[in-house]
Amino acid sequence: MTAIVDEICDLFARCGSGQYGEDLSLERHMLQAAAFAESKGAGRSLIAAALLHDIGHFLHPDSETAIADGRDFEHEALGAAWLSRAFDQDVTAPIALHVQAKRYLCAVEAGYWDGLSDASRLSLTLQGGVMSDDEAAAFARRPAFEAAILLRRCDDLGKDVDMNTWTIEDYRPLLMACLR
Ligand code: FE
Repeated sequence: MTAIVDEICDLFARCGSGQYGEDLSLERHMLQAAAFAESKGAGRSLIAAALLHDIGHFLHPDSETAIADGRDFEHEALGAAWLSRAFDQDVTAPIALHVQAKRYLCAVEAGYWDGLSDASRLSLTLQGGVMSDDEAAAFARRPAFEAAILLRRCDDLGKDVDMNTWTIEDYRPLLMACLR
């Protein structure tokens, strides 16, 4: 089971420099999301979820082109499914729902859409657009709702071109502690 932690570190090393439409690499974005989760007092499983939330982009052979071409390959589901062999729902469910959380926040929070980056607005359309009232009500009843919203906040914050963070290697002990 611990082999997956090596695989994660390897994926960050090999694919981390990939861009995804923001002005910073995916690796830095994910490390920043983890740092924000920690600063918000999240527990270790949500810090791990923030750290790994976009790992689906690393797993897709054609991720950068897909993003550039405006194709949605459901990176959240891909990432959550890949991680589920070693991590439980406390880590994988917020990852699986972090795109839905954006669609939800656009529906219920005035000004949220205005604060999204251009890349995030573009992907929103591909991801189904703003939730309807019924979709938002159903989403708010999901067990991982709170965690998914917190992860989303960290995702939105983790786009700072100047911020320094820990490295993926620094998170090895935390990831090991989150394994099933
Ligand atoms: Fe993200």
